Amino acid sequence: MSQYDYDLYTIGGGSGGVRAARFAGQAGARVGLAEKGDLGGTCVNVGCIPKKLMSYSAHFHSYFADAAGYGWTLDGEQRFDWATLIANKDREITHLNGIYQRLLDGAKVDLHRGFATVEDAHTVNVDGKRFTAKHILVATGGHPDKPDVPGKDFGITSDDFFHLKTLPKRAVVLGGGYIAVELASILNGLGSEVTLVYRRERLLRTMDADLGVFLADEMAKKGIKLVFDATIAAIEAPQAGEQVTKNVRLTNGDTLQAECVLFATGRTPNTGKLGLEKAGVVLEKNGAIRVNEHFESNVPSILAVGDVIDRVALTPVALAEAMVVVARLFGKGERSISYKNIPTAVFSHPNIGTVGLTEEEACKEVGEVKIFKTDFKPLKNTLSRNTERTFMKLVVDAKSDRVLGVHMVGGDAGEIIQGFAVALQCGATKAQFDMTIGIHPTSAEEFVTMRTPVA
Ligand code: NDP
Repeated sequence: MSQYDYDLYTIGGGSGGVRAARFAGQAGARVGLAEKGDLGGTCVNVGCIPKKLMSYSAHFHSYFADAAGYGWTLDGEQRFDWATLIANKDREITHLNGIYQRLLDGAKVDLHRGFATVEDAHTVNVDGKRFTAKHILVATGGHPDKPDVPGKDFGITSDDFFHLKTLPKRAVVLGGGYIAVELASILNGLGSEVTLVYRRERLLRTMDADLGVFLADEMAKKGIKLVFDATIAAIEAPQAGEQVTKNVRLTNGDTLQAECVLFATGRTPNTGKLGLEKAGVVLEKNGAIRVNEHFESNVPSILAVGDVIDRVALTPVALAEAMVVVARLFGKGERSISYKNIPTAVFSHPNIGTVGLTEEEACKEVGEVKIFKTDFKPLKNTLSRNTERTFMKLVVDAKSDRVLGVHMVGGDAGEIIQGFAVALQCGATKAQFDMTIGIHPTSAEEFVTMRTPVA
């Protein structure tokens, strides 16, 4: 008999935690998992899934407008009902929570509903109940931050956004990252008057520079007001409340009025109350758990994956990290993860899809690069007279001809980039892109028909 209650005890039932618990259980390990909230973590409950569902909803606005050019008459007024969307979204999420529960049950994982703390290298305490484990895996994710400005309590975060009772008439979104552009696009599509305020002058500053510039133009065309080089200095309101009009004072001297002020200003790893320091675990300045290539902290029996290690805060990355842990601890061999060429999509309107190096990164890494770009009106937007355009860019190593970066802003960019990510993993060259036959008529075919470098 083992000296421990469990082989693996996972703290957190989000993407990374459930994946590790489930596959460890399937491999025959005795697994326990603690979760204080709903199963599925940020992604299922207040992240990727509700965001994408709401993004679908927000697209109907332009579909209705496009329909006339294609011969359709939509009689009467098109009305949107926020309460219906939220109720249907919640129903789908409850369904997903149930699927996660069944996955854990199927792998014979003991689920403990409660808040877990770490007492020592092999002991967790879930609301007063102690469990020992050979390995403890921390997969507690992160939470959204609010900047420290006067009146910040009048503002909300993405966690609150998904539970608003009404669609705000006017919204101010602060930030220029993923969440800011996605939620600003959703609010705009659903009918709110949106101002996005960002302290720099280019959205999505960690991505290829052309993407943020192109996206800003497209967002502005859809009616989103963009205020750059400014941030929120203070929020004033007579009282808290969704419908209450707030005065939003900006650092550039302007004052905006809005019912909803949304902070999309980054996320912090959830380690604050876990007791990890007591167990001797070293944390980074922002609270992230410092781990090695095996996802072990400096206390080797305590491991961590996902947003709580703050490497790449994406669900598929957390899943891959969890698989590395399970393979080493309970599998037949070692497995590793490469953080190179991770494709990602931003579900702004229009979408962004990107994989590989930005032009700037490529210049630093290989010196000489060739750049191919195109910017066009997609066929779908011809009859409809929709003015949204599509942008595509390839970054190529001039010496080896390898394609180092594939970037797109436009309809279905996320769907399109996934396949190109495989090509980049395989080390595809521009000549191989050129040899590939396009699929006509699609937007994606432009990626294999760009012939003349612009730089
Ligand atoms: P990001 O780090 O992407 O963006 C945060 C933004 O807030 C930046 O523009 C930042 O400005 C700004 N900011 C930070 N602090 C302040 C401040 N004090 N005052 C004013 N502005 C501030 O974080 P998000 O919260 O948008 O998203 C977190 C992570 O979640 C993402 O990085 C991504 O990994 C993941 N995610 C992925 C999605 C997807 O895959 N589609 C969707 C949503 C999230 P600056 O640029 O100057 O630092």
